[in-house]
Amino acid sequence: EQPWAAPEEEPIVRIDKVTKTFGSTYAVDEISLNIHRGEFFSLLGASGCGKTTLLRMLGGFETPTSGRIYIDGQDVTDVPPYLRPINMMFQSYALFPHMNVAQNIAFGLKQERMPSALIRERVAEVMALVQIEKLATRKPHQLSGGQRQRVALARALAKQPKILLLDEPLGALDKKLREHTQFELVNIQERLGITFIIVTHDQEEAMTMSSRIALMHDGRIEQVDAPRRMYEFPATRYAASFIGSVNLFNGHVMSHDNDMVLIHSEEAGSDLLVHHSQPLNPGMEVTVAIRPEKIAVRDHHSEDPNSIHGVIQEIAYLGDVSIYHVELPSGKRVQFTQSNVLALAEQPLTWGQEVALTWNAYSCGVLTQ
Ligand code: ATP
Repeated sequence: EQPWAAPEEEPIVRIDKVTKTFGSTYAVDEISLNIHRGEFFSLLGASGCGKTTLLRMLGGFETPTSGRIYIDGQDVTDVPPYLRPINMMFQSYALFPHMNVAQNIAFGLKQERMPSALIRERVAEVMALVQIEKLATRKPHQLSGGQRQRVALARALAKQPKILLLDEPLGALDKKLREHTQFELVNIQERLGITFIIVTHDQEEAMTMSSRIALMHDGRIEQVDAPRRMYEFPATRYAASFIGSVNLFNGHVMSHDNDMVLIHSEEAGSDLLVHHSQPLNPGMEVTVAIRPEKIAVRDHHSEDPNSIHGVIQEIAYLGDVSIYHVELPSGKRVQFTQSNVLALAEQPLTWGQEVALTWNAYSCGVLTQ
């Protein structure tokens, strides 16, 4: 499940019941979290959820109101930033305008009084790593946004930290360059084996790059999981809605046998059957979550569980797929997607058309919170 660390190994970062308040605001509310050696770990969440505050506490730029932070088994809660085996790449990149690229990268090493021959070697090494050798003598104002981002990354890596903290590292780049740089970052991280911890509000970015994601909400952790599990098995309604698109049907449990839950849902206008191993009591209010791409069109409506029908209200053609919005007799709106691979050969679905839809009991989930 987690190839990067045996569970008994000491995590490289252990966050133990950490809280940070600013006045009456709980920016971080009693968070506990382990991050393993060599992980590409993302703190993901909407603006104001506390992710930057948590990252800054790991770097030593904020002190927890309560709780402890351990790095490599050592309590660093009261250790200043420069004595932690950590480096941080700031969102603003914070390059010195009067220094050229090589000087910017060398700056931190000089401050540590590293011998100059070794500094030259290190600077050349990290410039090669992020492919900016040709820019060595340029000043920051002579660089593009993407190039500045590389310089900031090179500078952060030059000290060879055990852990690199990155605050929205791709925030200043346009969409094309972002996507390209995501793969580069993962590549560099894998080659160096350094633990990367990044903050992002972009779920696609977190999904693309991370070994694991902590989804944060109101200063707390909603779910920690690998991207695939986060998408396939969201733990809460919030997690299901934040990551990707989802249809949510409220209902109540009718029965639960052999890991199959039968749920009655007025909204869906159908009984819903869901594979779920944890016991659920009859009468319990639950929500069924089904992703748009797990829904299939069928020939005709049936009374079986997981059978809904409605009228197509909107179609968004995205090239590779189309998204259909369907209104059910209850007034509830449902989204489903269809691949356009076969669309030219088939009769396409149209506005106003009545459709019958279904899905598999193993393709959906039950949420209780
Ligand atoms: P964003 O993506 O917008 O940067 P975030 O998830 O990183 O948001 P934080 O910056 O950690 O969120 O802020 C969490 C909460 O703490 C917010 O309500 C914010 O207003 C508050 N906060 C953060 N720093 C301070 C501060 N220095 N003084 C007062 N309140 C603060």
